[in-house]
Amino acid sequence: MDSVPASLPSLELERATGYPELVDPFGRAITYLRVSVTDRCDFRCVYCMAENMSFLPKAEVLTLEELDRLCSAFIARGVRKLRLTGGEPLVRRGIMTLVTSLSRHLRSGALDELTLTTNGSQLAKYADALAATGIRRINVSLDTLDPEKFRAITRWGALDQVMTGIDAAQAAGLKIKINTVALRGVNDDEFPRLIQWAHSRGMDLTLIEVMPLGEIGEGRLDQYLPLSVVRAELAKLFRLEVIDYRTGGPARYVRVAETGGRLGFITPLTHNFCESCNRVRVTCTGTLYMCLGQEDAADLRKPLRASEGNDLLFAAIDEAISRKPKGHDFIIDRRHQRPALARHMSVTGG
Ligand code: SAM
Ligand code: SF4
Repeated sequence: MDSVPASLPSLELERATGYPELVDPFGRAITYLRVSVTDRCDFRCVYCMAENMSFLPKAEVLTLEELDRLCSAFIARGVRKLRLTGGEPLVRRGIMTLVTSLSRHLRSGALDELTLTTNGSQLAKYADALAATGIRRINVSLDTLDPEKFRAITRWGALDQVMTGIDAAQAAGLKIKINTVALRGVNDDEFPRLIQWAHSRGMDLTLIEVMPLGEIGEGRLDQYLPLSVVRAELAKLFRLEVIDYRTGGPARYVRVAETGGRLGFITPLTHNFCESCNRVRVTCTGTLYMCLGQEDAADLRKPLRASEGNDLLFAAIDEAISRKPKGHDFIIDRRHQRPALARHMSVTGG
């Protein structure tokens, strides 16, 4: 069990002289950090995890204090947007201690946005507290509005619990974006309904292509559905107006004329969005991935634990950013049906 301190040490890192902002070899400034705060989850989505996953031993996982220190170090080096993810971030014990502590960077102006991606199962419990910290927007992952299908996709989840969570989050004033993974033969008949539902509640909706990450015990090819095909189908039902709305992420948006709402497409396999990549990812063990689609990574836990000061940590971050690749090369291995990368999405949090 985690020991949960009442509050985390307020280790304020000034934008230190001698430590410039993070810029990679291709001139891209690193301003967006996604942090997986746990590899655990209360769901077992079929495209994300195998049913019987083995999770990391506790000693390997960064403590809440270490996560705070790591995030704060990145913020001191120019990160302006921080997304907590997982696994399921809201099942990490003491998560509100971490969120509350990190929210000081919003108040100081060092951070533009603190946000999270969640499956929504714990939102009823946490929505008010999240809103109180200064979080304004969250992403909720939801692939279907059909309770049975929901159970089949998530294996362990209950749709009504997530719906209650979404209600609570909206009541607390949080803006929600719905993320839907497009799964061939599973939810491809539901996109029009999902769009109408989300937009009628004032929520954007983004469709995501399945990415070939991790052994999940089922054929990827069965799940893969190119969004180019989905978009063409939707264009027969709705007028999709191209808009240049961007959230700093890889989604490309259209406005659905009939609903007035925004619809995003994240297409890692059919469209390369790497040239404007401003992000890096840290796992709950302190491993920094410079690209979601590449194996190359840097261990930040060792320098983090080696000393109380941040010099070693900054040096490790600088060295890693100097290796950030130009882009990824996802392919679904059609002959062997193997994932392009062995790591599960729950490790880096998407
Ligand atoms: N548990 C939280 C959730 O589900 O929102 C946060 C972590 S989850 C790994 C983050 C996002 O990654 C979710 O929207 C999920 O649908 C998506 N995801 C997981 N595995 C994926 C895969 N293989 N391809 C595409 N998206 C995936
Ligand atoms: Fe859990 Fe999110 Fe992965 Fe589903 S997608 S198993 S909710 S981490």
